[in-house]
Amino acid sequence: MSIHSSPPNLSIAPPTVLVVEDDYAIRKYLRIALEAAGYRYLEAADAGTAMKQLASEAVGAIVLDLGLPDRDGIDLLREIRTTFGVPIIIISARGQERSKIEALDAGADDYLTKPLSTGELLARLRAVMRRKQDDSSAEQVLAAGPITMDIVRHQVTLRGNPISLTPLEFKLLEVLVRHAGRVLTHRFLLREVWGSGYGNRTHYVRIYMNSLRRKLQTGEKGQSCISTEIGVGYRLRDDIEPRAGD
Ligand code: CA
Repeated sequence: MSIHSSPPNLSIAPPTVLVVEDDYAIRKYLRIALEAAGYRYLEAADAGTAMKQLASEAVGAIVLDLGLPDRDGIDLLREIRTTFGVPIIIISARGQERSKIEALDAGADDYLTKPLSTGELLARLRAVMRRKQDDSSAEQVLAAGPITMDIVRHQVTLRGNPISLTPLEFKLLEVLVRHAGRVLTHRFLLREVWGSGYGNRTHYVRIYMNSLRRKLQTGEKGQSCISTEIGVGYRLRDDIEPRAGD
């Protein structure tokens, strides 16, 4: 993807992206990429500055590094979440799976692993901001790529073909579709589908997810609409075309 892709809402004021990162080289790299893509760029090298920026500026999305000098990034994320609904993308070093899971559970919208790919970051930014706009609608017929779900009639189709799901699979898919494109942790899915009384029985999620994945293969290459994010959770892919051959 080109770094010159347009952000959404070009006709209105360009959305502001706040980058919270203590590494000067990464900030500089992100400034160039984000400004070239048409975003207004703001930065903070520590958590204190980030909170000040958030209090005084209208921020459309935050790119947040977990390793900050003055405060733990997840701690900052939790504080932001108590006050602001702004989408947050975590950037973290490779191998910090536990931090990623913690961050997603604490309300992060997505994460990227360093070294960052500009194209991927811009695609994720567009996705989280688009989802933010969609969130307000409480629709009863949901769609994500080739999948449609009629919540009231309990019907699911994949590229127009009806799919038969058990009630638990249906509930699991509904959570995935409502958060299409976003990585959902095992614990999040357990809580949303089974409820908070199920503690750490994340193997339930794995078992039902396996059968759901099989039912949601899109044909051509036996590819599933659900991708496994190793060590973290699952993502319902929002990049699969609604119809075959599109
Ligand atoms: Ca850092």
